[in-house]
Parts: sequence; C-alpha cells; structure tokens
Amino acid sequence: MSAQPTPTLPQDPCEAAPPYVRAIAPYQPGKPISELARELGLAESGIIKLASNENPLGVSPAARAAIEAALPELGRYPDGNGFALKSALAARYGVPLDGIVLGNGSNDVLEMVAIAFLGPGRAAVYAQHAFAVYPLATQARGARGIVVPAKNRGHDLPAMRKAIDAETRVVFIANPNNPTGTLLSGAELEAFLRDVPPHVVVVLDEAYNEYLPAAARYDSLAWLARHRNLVVTRTFSKAYGLAGLRVGFAFCDAPVADLLNRVRQPFNVNELALVAAVAALGDDAFVRRSHDLNLSGLQQLTDGFGRLGLAWIPSSGNFVSVEIPRANGAHRAGAVFESLLRQGVIVRPVGGYGLPDHLRVTVGLPEENGRFLTALAAALR
Ligand code: PMP
Repeated sequence: MSAQPTPTLPQDPCEAAPPYVRAIAPYQPGKPISELARELGLAESGIIKLASNENPLGVSPAARAAIEAALPELGRYPDGNGFALKSALAARYGVPLDGIVLGNGSNDVLEMVAIAFLGPGRAAVYAQHAFAVYPLATQARGARGIVVPAKNRGHDLPAMRKAIDAETRVVFIANPNNPTGTLLSGAELEAFLRDVPPHVVVVLDEAYNEYLPAAARYDSLAWLARHRNLVVTRTFSKAYGLAGLRVGFAFCDAPVADLLNRVRQPFNVNELALVAAVAALGDDAFVRRSHDLNLSGLQQLTDGFGRLGLAWIPSSGNFVSVEIPRANGAHRAGAVFESLLRQGVIVRPVGGYGLPDHLRVTVGLPEENGRFLTALAAALR
C-alpha cells in the first residue's frame, strides 16, 4: 500500500510554495521583434524595436572579434572568478580587484544583494516609478517593500531617508531611473549617503551612467572608501551594446563583495560575455559614439514630441517617456501602443510603473526615431 499524503499539506506543489513567491507579478519584458512578426504576419526586417533600452549601434566590432576568437573554447567552463574582466575593470576605474562583483547582467547583482541582505522580517526602500526589479527581488526574498512616493517623478531622497525603518536593510536607487530618466545630482546622493545608517546597504544602480553628459557626471566610486554600505552597479547592456550576452558588475567594499560572491552562482557570467566585456571596455570610440548618438537622438525625439504638442519627462537615459493625452478623461496610451505595433513599431507601456498615460521609447538610430515619430503622429490622429 502506498503512503497517503498528510492531509494538512496541500496536494498541489504550487500551493506549497511560499505565498510571497506565488504573489510575484512577473517582469514584463519588451515585446521581441520575432513575436510581433509572428502575430502580424510581418517581415522582421520591417519592424523596429525601441522597447528595451538597447544600443541601436548593436555590438561593437571589438567585442564581436573577441567573441569569434573565443568560440573554440566553449567546451570549457568560464573562469568563475572572472579574473581578466575584473582586472580590466580594476585598471580602468582604479578600484581593488576584491571590490568588484560580476553578474549575469547587473540584474543578477541586484538579486545577489537581495539574497545576501533581505529575507522575511526585513525591508527594502525604493521609489515609486523605480526600476521593476527592485520590488521583484525584494518580494522573492519574502522581504517587505517600502515604496516612497516620487517627487517630480524622481527619487525623493529626504523622504526615502525618513522611510528607512528598523527592518530596512537595503535601499535601491536608480540614477538615472528607468523608466522616468530622472537624475539626482552627486551632491544629493552624497548627502543621502552621509545620513543613512551604516548597516543599511545603498544600491546605486548606474545602468545608464555612460550616457550622462559631462556636466551631469559625478564620481560615485570616490564615495566607496567612506561608505562601506555602498554598492554601485553598472552594466555592459546599454552603452557597451552587449545586452544579449548578459554581463554587469558592481563596485563595493571588499567584505560586501565577499558576501555577494557567496550567494553568486559559480559560473554566472559566461565565457563569451567575459571576453566581449573586456574588449568592449577597451573600445572607447564605440562608447563615445553611443553617447553622442543618444544625445542627438533624445533631441530628435523631444523635438518631435514638441511638434506634436506632447509632454515628456526630461530624461538622462537612452530612452524617454512621453505622455499620451487622455481623450475625454479616458487613458489612451494603450491604444496608441497598439496602433504603433500595427505600424511595426514596438515601444514600452509603463502603466505597471504607475505611469498609465506614458509610453517609454528607447532612442534608436535617426531613421528609427523618425519612423517612430511618424507612426506616433498617425496613432494620435
Ligand atoms: N537597472 C536599470 C535601471 C535598468 O533599466 C536595467 C535594464 N533594464 C537594469 C538595471 C538591468 O540591466 P542588465 O541586467 O541588462 O544589466
């Protein structure tokens, strides 16, 4: 006779998962080109995707060459410590090797912070309209999210400081933030760091850092020596053009890096990502081109919005969120998004971020920005 299941336990394995895991609303990625092509019966070549803050220049030639050279080595595991990439980052940024953590995208590092510092009975503070992974990573650890209302659509740091309670162990700040593009100054950030209790980890997510114009730059790495609770995250997905490979990194105090490395998967960054990132890091001309193309593309997009009489949130990233005016009080961003899809243009609705009247568009090549603006004008008619 087979053993009967204990009656008090659920029969369904999914019901036995922690309630906080079952309550997670999955991350909504941008719609892939191939999916829209299938749905509409369109050729993929006729579709433009401005939905995931990718680099319109694609992969840098130096990174591509490094990938090709590494192909024969793929039968082996990658270097689990990422020595070559960490050495290149250490040399480039003047930071010690043991203060660097590598991730499968910077997303992976955000998850490591949550695994290492959060859990039931703990809390993380982040802002309204902030990057979606902060609530997701917090909830997946069974921790409580403390959402601080935005000020002018950006982070309200004094309010975030006040929101830190006895259970708070992590604060997430995106600068610039996605999807609003809002930017805090170095002085505001430094004042915040001075004020935060030293046992609370402050994650400063600088995924879009390389796009900042010279006047907006600040030296967050200089703060690491004074603030042992600071974790600065960056990525190769944006200005370096390697989103598909998944590689990001963090700079922090060595003991914090040690903790993060304990919860890191042993080979979290793959071999192609490691070699491509080293090459991309050395390709300054590509990053400069990405930066310059982005600034002119932002101008092209916002000029276009101005001509269409639309408002937008001023952005310091490689994207901008434009406001779609309501018709007789009814939201219209969803209908405009659908119309853009039918015209072969994929952008990103941001209702899930508490911005039901906005669409986020990634800066593309000049011709892509132009095609989007033409499609947007048609969608609004
Ligand atoms: N932080 C922010 C603010 C982002 O917008 C993104 C990408 N959408 C990430 C982190 C994660 O990027 P990745 O994992 O590709 O490094």
